[in-house]
Amino acid sequence: MTTTDTHCPYCSLQCGMRLAAPAVPGGAPRVLERPDFPVNRGALCGKGQSATVLLGEGHRLSSPLVRDTRGGALRGASWQEALDRVADGLRGAAERHGREAVAVFGGGGLTNEKAYLLGKFARVVLRTPNIDYNGRFCMSSAAAAHRIAFGLDRGLPFPLADIAAADCVILVGGNPAETMPPALRYFRELRERGGTLIVVDPRRTRTAEQADLHLQPVPGTDLALALGLLHLAVADGRVDQDFVAERTTGFEAARAAAMAHWPERVERITGVPASRLRETLDLFADASRAIVLTARGPEQQSKGTDTVGAWINLCLALGKAGREGSGYGCLTGQGNGQGGREHGQKADQLPGYRSIEDPAARAHLAAVWEVDPADLPGAGRSAYELLDTLGTEGGARAMLLMGSNPVVSAPRAAHITERLRALDFLAVSDLVLSETAQLADVVLPAAQWAEETGTLTNLEGRVILRQAAFAPPPGVRSDLHVLRELADRLGVAKGFPEDPEEVFEELRRASSGGQADYAGISYDRIRAEDGVHWPCPTEDHPGTPRLFLDRFATPDGRARFAPVSYRPAAEEPDADYPLYLTTGRVLAQYQSGAQTRRVPELAKAAPGPFVELHSQLAERLGVAEGEALTVTSRRGRAVAPARVTDSIRPDTVFMPFHWAGAGRANTLTNPALDPVSRMPEFKVCAVRVERVR
Ligand code: SF4
Repeated sequence: MTTTDTHCPYCSLQCGMRLAAPAVPGGAPRVLERPDFPVNRGALCGKGQSATVLLGEGHRLSSPLVRDTRGGALRGASWQEALDRVADGLRGAAERHGREAVAVFGGGGLTNEKAYLLGKFARVVLRTPNIDYNGRFCMSSAAAAHRIAFGLDRGLPFPLADIAAADCVILVGGNPAETMPPALRYFRELRERGGTLIVVDPRRTRTAEQADLHLQPVPGTDLALALGLLHLAVADGRVDQDFVAERTTGFEAARAAAMAHWPERVERITGVPASRLRETLDLFADASRAIVLTARGPEQQSKGTDTVGAWINLCLALGKAGREGSGYGCLTGQGNGQGGREHGQKADQLPGYRSIEDPAARAHLAAVWEVDPADLPGAGRSAYELLDTLGTEGGARAMLLMGSNPVVSAPRAAHITERLRALDFLAVSDLVLSETAQLADVVLPAAQWAEETGTLTNLEGRVILRQAAFAPPPGVRSDLHVLRELADRLGVAKGFPEDPEEVFEELRRASSGGQADYAGISYDRIRAEDGVHWPCPTEDHPGTPRLFLDRFATPDGRARFAPVSYRPAAEEPDADYPLYLTTGRVLAQYQSGAQTRRVPELAKAAPGPFVELHSQLAERLGVAEGEALTVTSRRGRAVAPARVTDSIRPDTVFMPFHWAGAGRANTLTNPALDPVSRMPEFKVCAVRVERVR
């Protein structure tokens, strides 16, 4: 039996799996366990186990589609015609409105090679500053806080195995039991060893059910919670003075800001009893190996950077950072959200995690790309700002979009859909006809994970190799092929190879000397070593599973406290919109659902959206289980059936965001942006809930 070792197409755990040819002709390839891969040791969730379904025909695009007139139907086309149309559309917009009128929008699921080449395409071929990606909606607040505090952003600065070895873990706003179930074993091992798991979440999720302590704050108040814990640490004399003096700067300002957040005030803001706050502080401070993890809950807020910064402050004050077994980390979300921002898809970054405004970084990349540094554009608009201005005076008029579905996943989604419709030209490359692809003038059918080789960087900063197991169907091409063909049509004949390993070799040179240094990583090393953790500057460097053990990545080697104070969400409940809405994911669906909604067993397990509400609220509104509800915010209205529970706060409703149509949660969400990360406030807005009359 021929098998190929590869990785799941979905989340940032990047579980290892083995693929075998179909048992019967025309059947789906089989997913086998790969117990030797250390991250998941053979375990897969239902999404990974069923991922091969989409490789078959019927669920996917199999030839390019073009639209002859606005409002007309998409029709089949040859690759030659489709690529010519894309090149004409991008070129025409630049000629009519200037280069900045052409935008590129990428995805956190694209391989490092694609993300790198897409960034190069935007800057070298289109010469536009306007490139960003949906990863901005995912981990950008944690990334910003990481860089402020530690001088460097990598999701986890330690391996996942450190969670199992810790004595206390505080998990803030994350639900790995549903989003990445194989990771749960690390939390289970922690508790089996006698360690303590504390979960902070407005819902008693499947993960919170397994915790020793569950704090259930009002949505958007976790910043106050972290400040209250720092206040207690100071008041109780628990600060690690030696660590603070030797390895940090800025403590005094952070301490002063925290002193305004005494436990009773924090209780009033968060709804978490002061006694629970004290219990949490004792458990965390007494643990010799202690970790704080954040996920989208605290990050997807208009103060996400400050919120994460406050949790980092707590780690630093207690000396729980910069040493083996302790620290702060972010559970990143998308399969390659980490690598996607390291290699140039983000509006302000060049490959190697370099700043696009840094003259030395620009000179380095210009040399690798054989262009004049003066020809490289500067920083462009962030994801929401880019989408919000599409088709407007001064905004982009044409866009190339790869591997993203903002019609479902962007905040204030009805408005963003209108902005996409307002474009002069939209081209989408995807493997399925997503809701965003349905708006496009040209749709390019892309090869999938098991049909093309490429690297991804998982949440631990481990660069892994997703190897092709099968050839794509005849009408389907890789995104690297698309970029090469478009570059050629737009007058850049060199520098866009189609072979992923060739792209990776250039990426190694491009990242060399940067923070995310991949220079010492090769496909052969990844195969031999089950992945290599960056930074890895030379071929004889072992890679860096643990960061910051000797020094932080700041100029003076010290971590920086952030002097942050509490502020409420951009939109708080009032008489017209009296409830909080928070959004998230469910076990059987992934992100915008473009892929997982098409997998029959996943669609059966999670067939549609719902509104989760507390039984007390349901009683007050006279709502029965399953009854259709209208949820209204200042952005719009969604309709979905009620799911009555006692596991959510009575002042809060929850909707999963995987679906389009009437139940689209992102119709409601607030695009208020974090001032640093430009992250929209997906996790909290004010709504009204009514029975459908
Ligand atoms: Fe795939 Fe994530 Fe599930 Fe692992 S946990 S099988 S990577 S979706």
